[in-house]
Order: sequence, then C-alpha cells, then structure tokens
Amino acid sequence: MRIAKEVYLFFHMLSPVSILASWYTPDHVAGPGADTDPTQITFPGCSCLQTPCLPGTCSCLRNKENYDANLRLRAIGSETERAEPVFECNILCQCSDQCKNRVVQRGLQFHLQVFKTEKKGWGLRTLEFIPKGRFVCEYAGEVLGFAEVQRRIQLQTIHDSNYIIAVREHVYNGQVIETFVDPAHIGNIGRFLNHSCEPNLLMIPVRIDSMVPKLALFAAKDILPEEELSYDYSGRFLNLMDSKNKERLGNGKPRKPCYCGAKSCAAFLPYDSSLYCPSEKPNVS
Ligand SMILES: [Zn+2]
Ligand SMILES: [Zn+2]
Ligand SMILES: [Zn+2]
Repeated sequence: MRIAKEVYLFFHMLSPVSILASWYTPDHVAGPGADTDPTQITFPGCSCLQTPCLPGTCSCLRNKENYDANLRLRAIGSETERAEPVFECNILCQCSDQCKNRVVQRGLQFHLQVFKTEKKGWGLRTLEFIPKGRFVCEYAGEVLGFAEVQRRIQLQTIHDSNYIIAVREHVYNGQVIETFVDPAHIGNIGRFLNHSCEPNLLMIPVRIDSMVPKLALFAAKDILPEEELSYDYSGRFLNLMDSKNKERLGNGKPRKPCYCGAKSCAAFLPYDSSLYCPSEKPNVS
C-alpha cells in the first residue's frame, strides 16, 4: 500500500485515565475484528548493507530522514496540519541495529513513573529531562475492528474510563486508514497518560514491520524532570469539533470535565462523535 507524502492525522480519545487490572504488553496485539494482525511483517526491508540508510538510496526513507543525529524526530514542532508518515527500518532490512532509522523500536529510553495526581487519577511523569523531539513511549494495546469499538463504547458508563483511541490517516486519494487501539485490558504504560489541552507530547503513527502503526509519543517541547506527561486526546490540530457548551455526547451521556489546568482548557475532555454515531463516520474504503 502506498501512502502519500502529505498525510494529515487526527486522533481522538475519550476520558481520563484510572488504574485497571490488566495485562501488560509492550506491543500491539490483535483484538476482535482487527483487519490486520499487528505482529505480521508487511514491509520488505532495504538493502543498505555497506552504506548508511539515507534518503535517495534507502527504500525505507522517502525524501527526508525521519530522525536527526540525536534521535530527535525531525518533523516535530512544525506547526502544520500535515505530518509525513514515518517508516522505520525493520526486521528484514540489511542495515545494522545501529541504523539511525531505528528509534521507536528501541523502546523506552527515559525513566518514567506512574504517580497519583490530585484530580485525574493516575498519571505518568518523567524523572529525567527529555529534549524536544525524542521518543518517549508508545500507546500500545489491542487493535480492534470498528464494530468492536462501538460495542465496547456502548457498554461504558460515566464512571468508566475510556482508553480507546482512533487514529485516522488521510491518504493521497481521499482514502482513510483507521486504526483503533484499546489498552484497557491489554496495554502498556501509555494508558496512564492524561489528556491536556496544552500537552507536552505529540502522537505520531510510526510503521516498523507492520502496516498497523505504532502510536508513538514524542516530546513536543523540552520536558523537565518531575513534569507530568500528557497529550491531546483529540489530536493537537483538530480540537475544534468540540464546542464548550456541548455537555452531552451524541448518545445522551454527559461529557467528562477536563482538569488539565491549562489556560486554553476546553473544559471537557474531547470525544470522537463518529464512534457514537456511525452516520458521522467518514468514508472509509
Ligand atoms: Zn536502508
Ligand atoms: Zn531499512
Ligand atoms: Zn536502516
């Protein structure tokens, strides 16, 4: 499958995080209705045996390198609505483990800690300085089909936390690639991240071996030790679909308040109305 150079990405998620008894997985696992098994190897590797992986010669890189020499995502902080898709070198590539196009696959590099917040239940913070652009952690869990997402959301009450995230990637021909991930029952530390209307992390889909993207969280700014880590559940750029006075979801359930404390706080947590009302779902082929 080909992906356009210009892809605009938006993400939606629903409510605050609280601790649950669940299984830990560092990587996505296939859940009910998943079209693609996230553990399946989809992409051919590059053949950079003698030369480093560079744009022009490496088939894993399009126009630009994904990361700079200090492992920072190059595209981070460009205040555009569009993001280029990131493909890392994979298990079939000829290059070594030291290749600069292998970052997310190396896993956690910073000391993170789950802690109890004042109003938001559990949260995740860093114990060390994280420079802007560095990979922080993944949001990993069960990869679901749309029907299963709707089924799980319908079962929720106001007291339940919702961890399901929908990532929509808009491909060059108008096609939309949707990925649904639920870390509630099987997931990683990503589930402890709280929403903020002024977050310090940005979620970027990164593909390594599989067409199913890793939902990789990168530092959107320099982050100091002890700072809580957060991201915008609705995606950084498209928070506009929520208006402050919409206090009820499409299904009549009340919306959850946001306690992020940011100046620009939208008062309620974002939600994805298309997950409640199938008619609002964008065309997917
Ligand atoms: Zn290569
Ligand atoms: Zn490669
Ligand atoms: Zn490589």
